[in-house]
Amino acid sequence: MNTLSHGLSWVDLQFSGRSQVVATGLVQGHGGVAIVDPGPTSCLQTLELGLQANGIRWPDVRHVLLTHIHLDHAGATGTIVREHPHIKVLVHERGVKHMIDPTKLIESATRIYRDRMDTLWGEFAAVPANNLVSLAGGERVEAGGRTFDVAHTPGHASHHVSYFDGSSGVAFVGDTAGVCINGGYVLPPTPPPDIDVEAWGQSVDRILAWSPATLMLTHFGPVTSVRPHLASLLDNLHTTAGMALALLNAPGTDEERGSAFAEKLRHKVREQMTESEVATYVVAAAYEHLFSGLARYWRKKGAAT
Ligand SMILES: [Zn+2]
Repeated sequence: MNTLSHGLSWVDLQFSGRSQVVATGLVQGHGGVAIVDPGPTSCLQTLELGLQANGIRWPDVRHVLLTHIHLDHAGATGTIVREHPHIKVLVHERGVKHMIDPTKLIESATRIYRDRMDTLWGEFAAVPANNLVSLAGGERVEAGGRTFDVAHTPGHASHHVSYFDGSSGVAFVGDTAGVCINGGYVLPPTPPPDIDVEAWGQSVDRILAWSPATLMLTHFGPVTSVRPHLASLLDNLHTTAGMALALLNAPGTDEERGSAFAEKLRHKVREQMTESEVATYVVAAAYEHLFSGLARYWRKKGAAT
């Protein structure tokens, strides 16, 4: 059992047949069960096995807490709610309309993943408006028999929120604390469309203000060296953002820049990790997409053409 604290655990969704890529949080208490980021529909069976292993049945599940609406975090939500319409889904207010009508979200993901959409993610079904609870950040919510503080934590996504359980010291931070497998390189996931380096720094401050004992990362798992981890994240974010800007200001096409960026990043990650761990990072975050997100950020700021 992957236990974080009493009543708090996680399931490895074995995304794409690999362990340590996508984790779903489980919160169990007298007030029922909450699931944090159920993951994509392609992993729903693995999630169900994880629930069973923890003695959870779907009628026990009252809430799904979404950190953000990206497919690897929120994809299965609509499918779950269709089968179990008693479940309430908490999501940032900017994500609400995309959960009600995911057409645009699916279109933009299809531009990236094309014919691999179905294999990678499976269905992204709409969630009825009545099942959604809109969050702004700053509120307290009851779920899984405990009280969570909610913070708006943009940077990776403009609609990203994080959840903190003060009683255990565990913060579910989605992608805001980056991707980190086996204590290796702390990779800032920077896919398009709404990377914001400054906002990301402020979000990290918001998380630090909770003084969490544990950060629960979707990719992958618990981190207890909270401050050094977040310091590495911001260091690496500034480094990769700088790499992208230098490439944008040099001659070349975006495709060439994307490949050059991916090569540099692969090199950095490899300095700290084994070949098979590096391969897991690529499943969690394709490096070329990370360049596109940073390129879009710099162009929006007017720092590159
Ligand atoms: Zn994401």
